[in-house]
Amino acid sequence: MSDAASLSLIPPAPEGFRSGFIAIVGRPNVGKSTLMNRLIGQKVAITSPIAQTTRNRLRGILTTDEAQIIFVDTPGIHKPHHELGKVLVHNARMAIAAVDLVLFVVDGSVAAGRGDRFIADLLTRQSTPVFVGLNKIDLRAEDTATEVKASYQALAAAWPVVEFSALTGAGESALQTQLTQALDPGPYYYPPDLVTDQPERFIMGELIREQILHHTREEVPHSVAIAIDRIEESKKITHVLATIYVERDSQKGILIGKRGSMLKTIGSSAREQMQKLIMGKVYLELFVKVQPRWRQSRMSLGELGYQREE
Ligand code: GDP
Ligand code: MG
Repeated sequence: MSDAASLSLIPPAPEGFRSGFIAIVGRPNVGKSTLMNRLIGQKVAITSPIAQTTRNRLRGILTTDEAQIIFVDTPGIHKPHHELGKVLVHNARMAIAAVDLVLFVVDGSVAAGRGDRFIADLLTRQSTPVFVGLNKIDLRAEDTATEVKASYQALAAAWPVVEFSALTGAGESALQTQLTQALDPGPYYYPPDLVTDQPERFIMGELIREQILHHTREEVPHSVAIAIDRIEESKKITHVLATIYVERDSQKGILIGKRGSMLKTIGSSAREQMQKLIMGKVYLELFVKVQPRWRQSRMSLGELGYQREE
């Protein structure tokens, strides 16, 4: 899947073909990444019940006979507390300005709150059209449904509201149809069989981070960064060497666990996910290193793949 090879496979668009970029924005944890994975039919974005799971802007590509939609998954928008947070929010705002349409995803199981209004204000101040995506309708109580929907409609009367569940898939095809119709005629931007713009190397790192989010407590997940040091492919197996960077010795201890048990759990779960990704056997070797204050240091952020986008 090298860039040069994939570029040559972009076909001319047929009559009436539509295409465009749609940013998926919203508060942390509303289901943005789950939705993107569902729409493109493959897991490229990691998800978890912990806020701030998504750190990098990630593109997921949906190609049908009628259209190519490039979804831009963004980190949740919230008030930043440290350098990493500032970079994440800045990048979300850049994403909004650069797309054809914004899908503003909200938690449709509860009424609109302050966090949603903060984002709505941000969106009304720019000219990109907005759809409100009312997610998690599988969780809502039927007797409050109308009231909840009205609270989001009140954010901006002009924005169409679409209801769905990224988890169960309810409402997905109607959403896809509406988004397609909202786009202008356009070309293929990517080869039809490509589902993401990110290299496998990046997604592998994310799959490791996802298992850390699932298996450790609050203080660890937000302090880790993953570096994929080497990928060696042979006919039978792909050998992946990765380093997990943490900020403190205590976190290293938690990650390794009693006689290595935690690292083993994380490693074997991540390995299973990687095997699905590459559709082949993976041998994963994990190392843990302490690098104090990496989230505060611009240099470390850059080295670990968190670039400020211009
Ligand atoms: P993000 O921070 O907005 O990207 O949110 P994620 O996609 O990581 O999802 C956050 C949590 O909400 C995860 O535990 C998801 O499984 C869950 N979730 C996402 N969509 C739905 C949905 O439609 N229904 C339910 N019940 N849970 C959902
Ligand atoms: Mg996410």
